[in-house]
Amino acid sequence: MADEILVNCSPLEIRMALIENGVVQELSFERVAHRGLVGGIYKGRVVRVLPGMQAAFVDIGLERSAFIHIHDIEYIQHQASPQALSIASSGQVAMDHTHTPLIQDVLTEGQSLVVQVVKDQIGSKGARLTTALSLPSHYLVFMPHNQHIGLSQRIENPLERDRLKSLLESLVTQTTASGQSGGGVIARTIAEGMDREVLGSDLTFLKKMWSSIEKKIIYSQPVSVLHQDLPLYLRILRDLMRPPVQRVLVDSETHYRAMLDFAKEFMPGFEQAIELYVGERPIFDLHNTEDEIKKALGRKVQLKSGGYLVFDQTEAMTTIDVNTGAYVGHRNLEETIFKTNLEAAHAIARQLRLRNLGGIIIIDFIDMEDEEHKRQVMRTFEKFIERDRAKTKITQVSELGLVEMTRKRTHESLSRLLCEPCPTCYGRGVTKTAETLCCEIFREIIREANIYNASEYRVIASQSVVDRLLDEESSNVAELEAKIGKTIQFQVEALYGPEQYDVILL
Ligand SMILES: [Zn+2]
Repeated sequence: MADEILVNCSPLEIRMALIENGVVQELSFERVAHRGLVGGIYKGRVVRVLPGMQAAFVDIGLERSAFIHIHDIEYIQHQASPQALSIASSGQVAMDHTHTPLIQDVLTEGQSLVVQVVKDQIGSKGARLTTALSLPSHYLVFMPHNQHIGLSQRIENPLERDRLKSLLESLVTQTTASGQSGGGVIARTIAEGMDREVLGSDLTFLKKMWSSIEKKIIYSQPVSVLHQDLPLYLRILRDLMRPPVQRVLVDSETHYRAMLDFAKEFMPGFEQAIELYVGERPIFDLHNTEDEIKKALGRKVQLKSGGYLVFDQTEAMTTIDVNTGAYVGHRNLEETIFKTNLEAAHAIARQLRLRNLGGIIIIDFIDMEDEEHKRQVMRTFEKFIERDRAKTKITQVSELGLVEMTRKRTHESLSRLLCEPCPTCYGRGVTKTAETLCCEIFREIIREANIYNASEYRVIASQSVVDRLLDEESSNVAELEAKIGKTIQFQVEALYGPEQYDVILL
């Protein structure tokens, strides 16, 4: 079965699911309101030059003027006149880096300036700008204004660094020779291990995109938007439209049209792969996508063998615990454990992608006696995580049999994206028992009784706490009343959470 992508569009968010062999393997969400301006390229107008700060305010069409510092002005573009197309790429004057010029010598009020947003506007602070433009794709970053070829520092293997460097040099030479615009390029961490075809198509894409921006630089009037960082439904095309993905199904006519236009301009040949979904069922009912999202947010994942996985995500790491089901016969215990671990290896590899877990991950498979079984479980797990687009690395199997691994990813995990700490337990995942709360309430009443002289007390708490006070704790309550010489009333507040209560002095 060919791989396909489902795109679900609504006014608030865009959701993407990557389906491999009929099974959901990856999810991405983008909330429309959270799309920032970072990466956007504008033809702006300098509104004020501030010699004191060596900076300037630039109008890029936002509510507040954006800010640029002299250090972020690398090139002054000849951009005002549409004299010749070639000027935009070759006619930039690189500034002398041996000494920083003064802002008042570089910019004048009213002048137009091509800038890119590097930091969103926050509160009363305007957006921060640079003139050193860069265009990112999935694997590469293209810099139209320089000839630098670089690699992410996080690619560590020296052999891989050499391979990527010469591959990029050859790609840059090849694409420039075939008439595409020149410029520098940086391989992102995720480019590690990628072949010529993948990186080449990324670079060609970026150069096409740059040449369309170049035309806009020349012909647009300030103040205007020249380019915005791609929304999710277009990034999907840029990042995923290559074999084995053969089809993209999208459920909105508007987005479908936009995707077609985009493919026509930047990825010719891929238009046929994009289809408008007109089915009656919601698109995320296909391949049980909606159910899989629900499961990927749960702490527990049930396995067919009766076992289950438990996921715990903390600030520092994610731990995954593999458990056997409740009814394990004694006769084939080792065999049952082996089968459960094999199934877990598959399920964990899939959940890592679905949940988009990153950083340090520690997996506690069920202990096995048989060395061959241990090897087979590890081999199975390694085979499954190979298909992950994010870079994974098993760092070690500890003495206690814990599998330690890392996973590099570029976005937040699914749960961080969609959820917030529970307001009832404040993210602890547990709440105090009614018994613990009764103890606390007793202590509070004793403390108050020692300080104040109230005529009576009223305890307002959740149903379960009041029930306990009136039932199991009733003799203790009577004892407390005798001790403080006051009566205590109880009142249920249905809106209170299990840990919420008030002791009121009347
Ligand atoms: Zn909770």
